[in-house]
Amino acid sequence: MFNTEFLDIPALDSANGTVSLPGSKSISNRVLLLAALSQGTTTIHDLLDSDDTRVMLAGLQQLGCRITPSNVAPGQPLQITGIDGFLPNNARGQLFLGNAGTAMRPLTAALAVLGGDFEMTGVPRMYERPIGDLVDALRQLGCAIDYLKDEGFPPLKIGQPDFSQLGDAPIQVRGDVSSQFLTSLLMALPLLATDRDITIEVVGELISKPYIHITLELLARFGIAVKNDNWQRFVIPAGSRYQSPGSIHVEADASSASYFIALGAITADATEQNSIKILGVGKDSIQGDIRFIEAAQAMGAQVESGPNWLQVSRGVWPLKAIDLDCNHIPDAAMTLGVMALYANGTTTLRNIASWRVKETDRIAAMAIELRKLGATVEEGADYIRITPPASKQAWKAASIHTYDDHRVAMCFSLAAFNPAKLPVRIEDPKCVAKTFPDYFEALFSLCETERERIPVICIDGPTASGKGTIAAEVAKALGYQLLDSGALYRITGLAASRAGLALDESSEETIAEMALEMPVRFDAQQRVWLGDEDISLAIRSEEAGMNASRVSALPAVRSALVDLQLAFQHLPGLVADGRDMGTVIFPHAPLKVYLWASAQCRAERRYKQLISKGISANISTLLADLEARDARDMNRATAPLKPAEDSLQLDSSQMTIEEVVAQVLSWWQERQLFGRA
Ligand code: C5P
Repeated sequence: MFNTEFLDIPALDSANGTVSLPGSKSISNRVLLLAALSQGTTTIHDLLDSDDTRVMLAGLQQLGCRITPSNVAPGQPLQITGIDGFLPNNARGQLFLGNAGTAMRPLTAALAVLGGDFEMTGVPRMYERPIGDLVDALRQLGCAIDYLKDEGFPPLKIGQPDFSQLGDAPIQVRGDVSSQFLTSLLMALPLLATDRDITIEVVGELISKPYIHITLELLARFGIAVKNDNWQRFVIPAGSRYQSPGSIHVEADASSASYFIALGAITADATEQNSIKILGVGKDSIQGDIRFIEAAQAMGAQVESGPNWLQVSRGVWPLKAIDLDCNHIPDAAMTLGVMALYANGTTTLRNIASWRVKETDRIAAMAIELRKLGATVEEGADYIRITPPASKQAWKAASIHTYDDHRVAMCFSLAAFNPAKLPVRIEDPKCVAKTFPDYFEALFSLCETERERIPVICIDGPTASGKGTIAAEVAKALGYQLLDSGALYRITGLAASRAGLALDESSEETIAEMALEMPVRFDAQQRVWLGDEDISLAIRSEEAGMNASRVSALPAVRSALVDLQLAFQHLPGLVADGRDMGTVIFPHAPLKVYLWASAQCRAERRYKQLISKGISANISTLLADLEARDARDMNRATAPLKPAEDSLQLDSSQMTIEEVVAQVLSWWQERQLFGRA
């Protein structure tokens, strides 16, 4: 996840490849409960791993369901053996459901019907989330539910129900507060419908019908055919019994798919055999937002679909402008707003009044941000009309404000394909975590751009100048990759000395061959791996530094490491630290910093560092060592230490780390085109 203040996306050229989307939260928890109530064992594929599913799994285990493995493991299906409509005798106690509404409401309904002795608890915030309408409906049936704290809110106590008074009268539930109440009843009441029809009647206008649609579809897969009478009455037929479908796939979130469908339509040029394959959701998805596909097709996307996958490529170019009622796909339709930037005229998205009351006023937000990019936008109470920038020159490099709205952040990333080849800045990129924490990583894994457009910041300087620390901090602030080139020489030195080689000209070719083949890997925590050995500590010793210095003086070794270093230049950018970064490896880097400090000052820093690690040290010896190493590094024939001609020099003697980082970032900002609105 990009946990930075902003994320600069370089102009992107094309996209190709396969993306697996995370499972839908709404579907995951429904499937878990239905499998738990069923007869037989259900194998669940692609379950979402989230707080909500974890508490649901723990709760179901407590109720006597056999679950293997007991938690979601990546790429591994989960098996649940259901209780076949009856709780085991010993099932009782307290169920802690955290802040998971998708666990609290349906489990309350199911347990109230099954009967027992349960306390339904959670975190304090859960006790502020209403459940009264559901409890009222369940009490009509004869369920025994008491409030343990505030009337209308969890925690709850569930006892033995008395269904003796249950007649044919419909059970009433309000539909205008949360569709989760109706969903909960729809999933619990089949347990009661063994010998009679059960009718649920919705009081008030039913909101969020697409979610009820998901519930009904999943019930059908578990053997319950509910009759839907115009979204006002639902009849669960007599003789209903939950039956495991054997195996079921949790669909990926269809709204998340919209960004990748758009990506295919905008950039996956079919004539070059490019396409975007989306795994996890297909055309026959039960989620409402899947109808985004039709809109994308109307704009020119070519879409193929199979069980649980979609494959999208560009059909016509530029895209076709459309005029569309988007009421049925409110969330995904935002993506059309950005696709409109690539259309051959004015696109109008209608009937989107609900945008005004989402995470932010989405009509206003889309209008402001699209204008920043150079589009002409007209907004109304319930529509938005978008005309793309008139020409390539009319596009602008924009810093997109994201309003803590994951969908604004995700859809505007697609503006990076602009014909003017301008970068796009996404502010507060971590807001995507609401539904898709790794969205940008997934996007970058599919996208291609010219190498020169992926920015590189080079940081060099004499030993103990603090360049490693500064490079790491700058990379962190920008969400860029980090290349610690010194580590590569340290690894080579370590590998060569372990192999018993002399670290001089006599072994130059052997060491170079070795360097070409080294299975080196830096992980997200900046640990260094050689094969499956963590060598992070081993390469930091004084001896390893010395060995690095020796092997780095061998020209064949230096050239063997070039490709490995170049491979670090990937999206969205790179901070490279080390000797020849700005002169040999990345000569076109747009910012090169040469960091230095007086030898006295560096000796003092190293002294403090060693003392803090409990290593005894002496300043004058350290100073003498540093001066000797400076002299050796500056005067050596291969890659001597000297500032790149176009580097900016920074004397950090009197500066703190924070001040140095701020200075480097400010130099970087000065080179950017984004004007903040
Ligand atoms: O930066 P670090 O101390 O880890 O580097 C170890 C040694 O590797 C340096 O003293 C230098 O001689 C060598 N080196 C190099 N070229 C680089 C990085 C490091 O020659 N790009």
